[in-house]
Amino acid sequence: MPMKPKKIVRPWVKEHKPFERERHSTDFDYNGRKWRKLRLQVLEEKPLCNDCKAEGVVTRATVVDHEPTAKVLISKGLDPYDKQYLFPLCKKHHNAKSGREAHAGGMG
Ligand SMILES: [Zn+2]
Repeated sequence: MPMKPKKIVRPWVKEHKPFERERHSTDFDYNGRKWRKLRLQVLEEKPLCNDCKAEGVVTRATVVDHEPTAKVLISKGLDPYDKQYLFPLCKKHHNAKSGREAHAGGMG
């Protein structure tokens, strides 16, 4: 009688928790309908760039950014669609920020 293969226990692999939807990655869906709607809402509520405002400059925001990043939020089990993590930015500040983030990832 051959031995039954034992169930392999990998304690370093986290068990998948049932999410509202199946998620296998920490990638945020920036093309999703939910995000596009939310992003317009944020820009309507806070039309000025957050970073420019901090510098005392008034600039119209065109981009909505996550702080912390969507990836971090998802990995922590937080809701990336929660407005408390969303900040309006102008293109200049958004580019500066995403440039830094890309750098932090070791790319570019
Ligand atoms: Zn700005």
